[in-house]
Amino acid sequence: MKVTVLVGGVGGARFLQGVLAALGADAGGAGHEVRAVVNVGDDIWLHGLRVCPDLDTCMYTLGGGIDEGKGWGRADETWSVREELAAYGADPTWFGLGDRDVATHLVRTRMLRAGYPLSQVTQALCARWRPGVALIPASDDRIETHVVIDDPETGERRAVHFQEWWVRHRALPTAHGFASVGRDQATACPAALDAIADADVVLIAPSNPVVSVGTIVDVPGLRAALSAAPGPVVGISPIIGGQAVRGMAEACLSAIGVEVTAEGVGRHYGSRSTGGLLDGWLVDTGDTADVPGVAVRSVPLLMRDPATTAAMVREALDVVGLAGV
Ligand code: GDP
Ligand code: CA
Repeated sequence: MKVTVLVGGVGGARFLQGVLAALGADAGGAGHEVRAVVNVGDDIWLHGLRVCPDLDTCMYTLGGGIDEGKGWGRADETWSVREELAAYGADPTWFGLGDRDVATHLVRTRMLRAGYPLSQVTQALCARWRPGVALIPASDDRIETHVVIDDPETGERRAVHFQEWWVRHRALPTAHGFASVGRDQATACPAALDAIADADVVLIAPSNPVVSVGTIVDVPGLRAALSAAPGPVVGISPIIGGQAVRGMAEACLSAIGVEVTAEGVGRHYGSRSTGGLLDGWLVDTGDTADVPGVAVRSVPLLMRDPATTAAMVREALDVVGLAGV
């Protein structure tokens, strides 16, 4: 079976572990192909290095190098580079690059500077980590999410990079809106379009609906590819009981006027029959949702471990009649 998954970082990576477990691919089961179309809107240049948080979270999680406690970054990380940069007063100081992690960014940056597209660079990095999933950036072009906030220091309204709002300010200043900088000149990664066009099913991970999934489907060509996809599209709610399970997705949904409920997000994605994204939508057992034109099912949606998440993935396939994996 060919499964393509739209993913962000932590929520996306954990969901991918469940997809592999559901297909038996984590135990060497053959005959399945899992491809992930990964958000690049969080990517940022820091200290001359290209940092791709969502791609790296997926790569480290599936490759066994993740810091399990934090859910991002390398296990057994040390922070000498960060301390030395701070000693120079080198801005920005609010984004910590771990020593092990820096090696990834050095290799990536060097290859990008040599002219390789991000998708090929990612493949090269994955040759080490063997994530078991093809990690495909939604675009090879530079697309960066910016957030309009009132600067906490000056009170002035300005757009800051998503990471500055999320990491530096912990998403506390109210977001007045989001902009995908570079999007209008960007094109979708051809491999991402192919992954959607020949998938038996497309799954939308329980990733942040605005700054992960929203940024992916806004890449020119991607929404059209999803709408033309021959297989069904099933989404999984990242909102359980009116709250984001981890992280601060509520602040993003409120900013774009979407109700922070499983139904709110389902309706925001909408039915493929009316130009939206979904054929199926999974909500948690405690939630209900009425999304016109979409098959909705309530199942446990907490990703405790890959086995629990695999059960969720089987339900996602079953809701569109793809049982039996
Ligand atoms: P990020 O890029 O690291 O922020 O990660 P994602 O965008 O991929 O995922 C963040 C989203 O994952 C948040 O909105 C959470 O609500 C959601 N999430 C995290 N853990 C779980 C879980 O166990 N179950 C569900 N349904 N959603 C989760
Ligand atoms: Ca992210």
